[in-house]
Amino acid sequence: MNLSKYLLTFTLLSTALLAVSGCQPGTRDRYAPVIVADHSVSVIATSQLIHSKILGYSVQNRPIELTTLGCGPDTVLIIATIHGNEDAGTPLVYWLIDHLKAKPDVLDGRTVLVVPVANPDGYDLRTRANACGIDLNRNFPAANRVNNAGNGMDGLTEPESTILHDLILTYRPARIVTIHQPLYCLDYDGPGEDLAKAMADYCPLPVKKLGSRPGSLGSFAGIEQNTPIITMELAKEDSQLTDVQLWIRYGNALLAAITYPQLPY
Ligand SMILES: [Zn+2]
Repeated sequence: MNLSKYLLTFTLLSTALLAVSGCQPGTRDRYAPVIVADHSVSVIATSQLIHSKILGYSVQNRPIELTTLGCGPDTVLIIATIHGNEDAGTPLVYWLIDHLKAKPDVLDGRTVLVVPVANPDGYDLRTRANACGIDLNRNFPAANRVNNAGNGMDGLTEPESTILHDLILTYRPARIVTIHQPLYCLDYDGPGEDLAKAMADYCPLPVKKLGSRPGSLGSFAGIEQNTPIITMELAKEDSQLTDVQLWIRYGNALLAAITYPQLPY
């Protein structure tokens, strides 16, 4: 599925609606009430506030895209394929985007940010690391980071990790889910245990604390930023599933993360 179609379809309409609502990423007060007069208007607005943009480019100049759904104050960030050869999360989140378009009531009061491919070079090259051989999930600024040739000689040496870092600081999401393989569990960092348990109620993955990896996104967002973050480790063989099979297995867990602390609907 090509995200450019979302861009073409929704940009004009969403831009107009953003102007009307004042819902501008990075400038709005995330705790401010939703600027709509009544529920019916809210549903119409959120159902159409779906747009995509390019956040920046990878080492090999591939775009890193963000799809934004809704504009409510409760913001959730979902990231797939930061490790390029752990790709099952990408079709899963594309299905999630389609689901939220069809069920816009889930977006009421919420903003859902989706990065379907955080490491597009690794995704195309079938490698864990980016095109420079850097593990992006070890390239974030955190007290536990280790500088070396595989992690980067400093934090944020790579454009891909810098893009995610800036995205998090711009939107300050209340919850983050990042999808990996193959450890088959729901790991968490920061104050994420209850969120992990809520997601575990809706998928076969058990909650398991793996320990914070040096310079990982979990260490940066969970420990340094105190944001609940879930490392959703799917099974290795999940890469063989169709997108509908992935959705059946894991879709409700993603919805649980979006609606938390409410039950998914
Ligand atoms: Zn991984």
